[in-house]
Amino acid sequence: DVTVPEFVLAGAEAYADKVALVEAAPGGRSYTYGEVCRDVARFARALRSVGVRKGHVVVVALPNLAVYPVVSLGIMSAGAVFSGVNPRAVAAEIRKQVEDSEAKLVVANEVAYDKVKGAGVPVIGIGDVECMPGAISWDELLAAADRTGAPVVALDPVQQSDLCALPYSSGTTGVSKGVMLSHRNLVSNLCSSMFAVGQELLAQVVTLGLMPFFHIYGITGICCSTLRHKGTVVVMDRFDLRTFLGALVTHRVMFAPLVPPVMLAMVKSPVADEFDISGLALRSVMTAAAPLAPDLLAAFQNKFPGVQVEEAYGLTEHSCITLTHAGGGDPQKGPVQIAKKNSVGFILPNLEVKFIDPDTGRSLPKNTPGEVCVRSQAVMQGYYRQKEETERTIDDKGWLHTGDVGYIDDDGDVFIVDRIKELIKYKGFQVAPAELEAILLSHPSVEDAAVFGLPDEEAGEVPVSCVVRRRGAAESEADMMAYVAARVASYKKLRLLRFVDAIPKSVSGKILRRQLRDEFVKNNA
Ligand code: ATP
Repeated sequence: DVTVPEFVLAGAEAYADKVALVEAAPGGRSYTYGEVCRDVARFARALRSVGVRKGHVVVVALPNLAVYPVVSLGIMSAGAVFSGVNPRAVAAEIRKQVEDSEAKLVVANEVAYDKVKGAGVPVIGIGDVECMPGAISWDELLAAADRTGAPVVALDPVQQSDLCALPYSSGTTGVSKGVMLSHRNLVSNLCSSMFAVGQELLAQVVTLGLMPFFHIYGITGICCSTLRHKGTVVVMDRFDLRTFLGALVTHRVMFAPLVPPVMLAMVKSPVADEFDISGLALRSVMTAAAPLAPDLLAAFQNKFPGVQVEEAYGLTEHSCITLTHAGGGDPQKGPVQIAKKNSVGFILPNLEVKFIDPDTGRSLPKNTPGEVCVRSQAVMQGYYRQKEETERTIDDKGWLHTGDVGYIDDDGDVFIVDRIKELIKYKGFQVAPAELEAILLSHPSVEDAAVFGLPDEEAGEVPVSCVVRRRGAAESEADMMAYVAARVASYKKLRLLRFVDAIPKSVSGKILRRQLRDEFVKNNA
C-alpha cells in the first residue's frame, strides 16, 4: 500500500549522487537522486505552509524542465492532486482548467505566468521571479520549508485510494475532461507496464523526456518509470529535429519514448540525412498515442537498423499504458514474446481486455474488430464532476470503454484499427482514417497525410484527405487519389484530396482532425 512518490523513489538513498534528471540544453539544470528526494520532501512541507491540504488540486503550468517531476511528486507527497496543463495553451484554456479543477494553487514559470496570474489563485513562480511580479518564489518557499522543518505529512496520512493526479484529456474527440487518478491507479499501471518494458528500463537506462510532462505519457510512462528504475531522464522541451538528434548523441540516450510524428520527422526530414547516426547509443524507441503506419515503421527500421521499435497503446483514463510490444512472460523473469509488427502488442499483466460490439455490448471472438474494453486497478476513478460522462465510460461491471476499435489475433497480439468517433461512415460502411493515412504515407512523394470525413447528403460522410507533398514531387492531387483507390475497396476511396503545407497535430502526437476539417471547409467553400 504505497503512494506514487514512495513507489517511485524507493531505494533512492543508494543512488544519492546519481543524476536522475538533466535538461538536454547545454548548461541545463540537473538533479541527483539525493536532490530529488530532498526537494520533493521540502516542497511537500512548503505546500502545507501555503494552505494546500489533502485532496486540494494544484495546477502545474510548466514546460518540460528537470524540476517538473520534483514538483509533481512533491504535490502527491503532500496528499494533494497534481494537474498538469500545457503552459503554451492560450490563457482561456489554462484558466478553464484552473477553474474546472477548483485548483487552490498554480505552479508556473515565465512561459505561462502572464496567463495564470489573473486566475484568482496564488502562483508559485519557478525561475526568474523578478519577471513574475506577485508570484511566490519557489526558491524562497523551499528555503523556508527547511527552516520550519515541519514533517511532510503532518495531518492526514496519504492512502493508495486517494487521488494523486487530475490530468485533462486533450479533447481531440470531445470536450476536455479531468481524469481522476488515484495513487493505486498509477502504482498499479507502473507495475504492469514496467514488467513489459523492463528490459530497457534497467538502472543504467537513459530515457529521453521529450513527450510533454503535463500528459500522462510524459509524467508516468517516462518520468515515474525511469525514476523507479533509478535511470536518468534527459529532459527536452519542444521538438526540433537537429537539437533532438544532437541531444540523443550528447547524452547517450538509450530509450526514447516518442509519438509517430516525431518518427516521421526522423525518417522523412532532410535534416536527418545530414546526421551521422553512428554516434547514437539508442537501443529502443517506444511509440504510442496515435497509429503507426506500417510504412513509417519499415522506413524507420531501415534508417535506424539497430534500434528496436516498441509500439504501445494506452489512454489517460487507464493511467497510461495498456498494451505493449513485449509480454507473455513470467513477471519474475521478464517478457518472453515480442509482438508482431504493426500490432500494438500484448495485454499487460494484471488487466483484462475484451472486444465488444458497441451496439449490443456482446463480447466478440478473436480476429473480430470491436470496441476495446479494459478492466484493472488502473482504471480511473471517473471524470471530475462529470457523473454522466463517467457512467457512459465505465460500466457497472468496472469495464472502461475506450472508444477505440481493435481486435486480438490467435497469438494474443492486439491490433488497433481506429477511434470509433473518427471512423468515417460512408453509406453504412465504416472507413478507418488510419488505414488510408497509412497508404498515403507509403507513397514516396507524401511527407505527411491526414484523412477525415466530410458531411455528404447522399453518402452521410465521404473520406477526404489533406496531404503534405514532398518538395519537388510532381504528382497531382488526382494522382494521389488514384494511388489510394488502387489499394482499397471502392467504398473507401478518397472523394477529395488537397495539398497543404502542414498537418495540425496535438502536442501528444494526434492529428487535429476537427481543426483540419473546419479549415478544409473554409478553404474549399
Ligand atoms: P480525448 O479523449 O479528450 O480526445 P486524448 O485523445 O488526448 O483526449 P489520450 O489519453 O491522450 O486522450 O489518448 C488516448 C487515445 O490515443 C486512445 O484512446 C487511442 O485512440 C490513441 N492511441 C494511443 N496509443 C495508440 C496506438 N498505439 N495506436 C493507435 N492509437 C493509439
